[in-house]
Amino acid sequence: MINGQPHGPQLGTATCQLHMRKFEDGATIVVEPWRASGFPLVRDLVVDRSSFDRIIEAGGYISVDTGSAPDANLIPIPKAVADVAFDAATCIGCGACAAACPNGAANLFTAAKISHLNLLPQGQAERWTRTERMVDVMEEYFGSCTNFAECEKACPKTISIDFIAMMNADYVKAKFKNRRLVSQTG
Ligand code: SF4
Repeated sequence: MINGQPHGPQLGTATCQLHMRKFEDGATIVVEPWRASGFPLVRDLVVDRSSFDRIIEAGGYISVDTGSAPDANLIPIPKAVADVAFDAATCIGCGACAAACPNGAANLFTAAKISHLNLLPQGQAERWTRTERMVDVMEEYFGSCTNFAECEKACPKTISIDFIAMMNADYVKAKFKNRRLVSQTG
């Protein structure tokens, strides 16, 4: 936190890209660690962000055997879809969204990590298990989203809260589809 703002005063900019010329000469700059219950303080400016790792471990990957690398154009993906997936994939996992949220929610991070896989053909096989598992782990560590949208403002990659809506829609579907899967496979 720089002067009370995650990543400081410049929108769409991570701390590592913020220049000192953004501040007045002689100004006092207050630097603090992230404040969110999901990020326990270790010491000084260090917080424990392993809660984000637990969310990724729950499903932020593709584990199906995809064989050897195919030609890129063998899997047609509409440009608009590829662009939106790429927007989500720009999340750097910094945690500013959770630190900015009055509820300490990590929905923007989780939604970005779910959406960049769920939008693409390669991510479909594990779409519903991924969504349910990642959201469930997120809820173990972080607060609930009530649409303050502070996360979107704080995000250095300007990731849209529209991804949270996509995640919520997929979560509702996942609850139904995963239950049907369990009943069919015993
Ligand atoms: S969604 Fe934005 S603020 Fe949240 S972890 Fe990703 S890059 Fe950081």
